[in-house]
Amino acid sequence: MTKPGSAGRDAGHDAGYDYDVAVCGASLAGSAAAILLARSGVRVALLERRSDPDAYKVLCTHSVTANAYPVLDELGLVPALEKAGAVRNHARWYTRWGWIAPRASAAGPELPYAYNVRRSVLDPLIRSRAEQTPGVDLLLGHHVTGLVRGAGGRTVGLRASTPQGEREIRARLVVGADGKDSAVAKLAGVAERQYENTRFGYLAHFRNLPLHGGIGQTWFLEPDMAYAFPNDDGVTVLAVLPDKKRLPAFREDVEESFHAFVRALPEAPPIDSAERITKIIGTVNYPLHSRKPTAPGIALIGDAALTGDPLWGVGCGWALESAQWLTEAVATAAAGRGDLDRSLAAYARKHRRRLRGHQFMAVDFAKARPFNPVERLVFSAAARDESVARHMHLFAQRLIGPLRFLNPVMLAKASAVNIRHRGASASASASAPPYGADGR
Ligand SMILES: Cc1cc2nc3c(=O)[nH]c(=O)nc-3n(C[C@H](O)[C@H](O)[C@H](O)COP(=O)(O)OP(=O)(O)OC[C@H]3O[C@@H](n4cnc5c(N)ncnc54)[C@H](O)[C@@H]3O)c2cc1C
Repeated sequence: MTKPGSAGRDAGHDAGYDYDVAVCGASLAGSAAAILLARSGVRVALLERRSDPDAYKVLCTHSVTANAYPVLDELGLVPALEKAGAVRNHARWYTRWGWIAPRASAAGPELPYAYNVRRSVLDPLIRSRAEQTPGVDLLLGHHVTGLVRGAGGRTVGLRASTPQGEREIRARLVVGADGKDSAVAKLAGVAERQYENTRFGYLAHFRNLPLHGGIGQTWFLEPDMAYAFPNDDGVTVLAVLPDKKRLPAFREDVEESFHAFVRALPEAPPIDSAERITKIIGTVNYPLHSRKPTAPGIALIGDAALTGDPLWGVGCGWALESAQWLTEAVATAAAGRGDLDRSLAAYARKHRRRLRGHQFMAVDFAKARPFNPVERLVFSAAARDESVARHMHLFAQRLIGPLRFLNPVMLAKASAVNIRHRGASASASASAPPYGADGR
């Protein structure tokens, strides 16, 4: 477990630093970064305020998007996840035009996937891998409370409160992997933008809650949302994300409101015959955050850099991916063999390029509005056409960004699908309601 100072100041390394990198937060982003950096020859202190090696994030529905699969693979976690019963995260989505059910083309490979797996499984697994990685010192019970500043105010380490007292750890680079309320970002005064989320959310785990086709279900109810994902060990997580206008009534009896909401879903999962095995927990105020991902001597990864809207289920994937982007950009310089500031700038550019567009869309959708015309066009076409549904799958799994998702060729294709659909409906029934090319 904790091996204070075992990779600390030693011969052959810069005498000014205890470690090359000090990572604050040993959850998904921090543990992944520690493993990947250490494998690249970087000496890492991985600090976690909680003392329990099996601690995990409770407020999460733990569906990990397919963009994270290559990182899970690089970390060597895929066999262990499969063994633990992690469920491939195939899903279908309810819309007012019917179900969007992406499936592989007849001759094509399986659709890209990652996993639905409870955080009580995933977090201890990745943290223990970090602990076993040569070059990583996992320091549990280390609550980061301050930064060490060097010349020109540059961050050159951090201070932590531990059961044994205060401790200072000097490092060439400090990584904030400490979640949406990042202490590192706040201590460093990193610029931040917050965006209102006008939905609230509650979730719970169930047994004996079969789902249609054995796969995840998401309901786009415009503006309310709900989802249900099958997980390891036969556990299904159910989440509801209604418009905040419904909060006062919902709160009068959370348990009854939660059940009533689920019962009213189209093709509702049989909640009344299922066994609830956790409390119903939730959050009524969950703004989105975007922070500048770097400052002198500092990098932010995971939720510390960007906290999205939980309804898209993308934060775990980006926590893992951003750890990989950081490692690729800074590993050499963090070990003292390159220009750290240029490397940090490269990481910041990649982070912005890959995530800014996604966050822009999420911020707009967090206004709990109905679909806009472009969304109506694409979602309606995806409910009617397999190849558009596959395209949506790639976006939902964050394998493509918003620009590719809504590229002109796709919009033209979606229009053609809807026009064909209108033609077919008109000839099938003269009295059928007309559908516009935008899907209405
Ligand atoms: C309701 C809800 C549902 C969600 N569902 C999904 C989903 O289905 N799929 C998905 O991909 N994402 C989902 N997310 C988002 C996901 O939970 C986060 O994006 C993800 O956990 C971010 O990982 P992280 O490692 O960046 O941060 P975190 O998991 O938040 O970890 C931060 C770590 O830092 C530690 N820490 C914090 N402060 C300090 C300090 N001062 N000193 C030392 N250690 C510190 C914490 O103890 C913790 O271990 C959901 C979020 C919510 C709220």
